[in-house]
Amino acid sequence: MVKTLDLRRVSAANLQRKKAALRQNLPPLVGLLRASFVKQFLTCGKKNCRCRRGFKHGPFFYFVQSLGTGRVRKFLLKTPEQRKQARAGIAAHRKWQRRLAEISEINTELLRRGWAEKGRAGNL
Ligand SMILES: [Zn+2]
Repeated sequence: MVKTLDLRRVSAANLQRKKAALRQNLPPLVGLLRASFVKQFLTCGKKNCRCRRGFKHGPFFYFVQSLGTGRVRKFLLKTPEQRKQARAGIAAHRKWQRRLAEISEINTELLRRGWAEKGRAGNL
């Protein structure tokens, strides 16, 4: 959930400063992954396996990506390197999402006030 900032009482100059600070500290655009990292313990099909007595197999780590209504892409992350990459990419994506949401909040407030801004590259 994105936190909603109360920007209505913040001056336009401070909003611009806040935005400039956010823009300067954007995380690196490397390996972004819009997905979830899921850890699971599983039972197998063997009748007398220990997993039937509560000692489940695992943990297994999965990459899970929502593809829209009822559709997901899911696969097992087999190696420590895959898991490391998935964790980092998912964390980086979340960081970008939060940062963009904050910038959007500021832009929304500026728009609400009718504060005109010249559209130029890198202005977000
Ligand atoms: Zn088992």
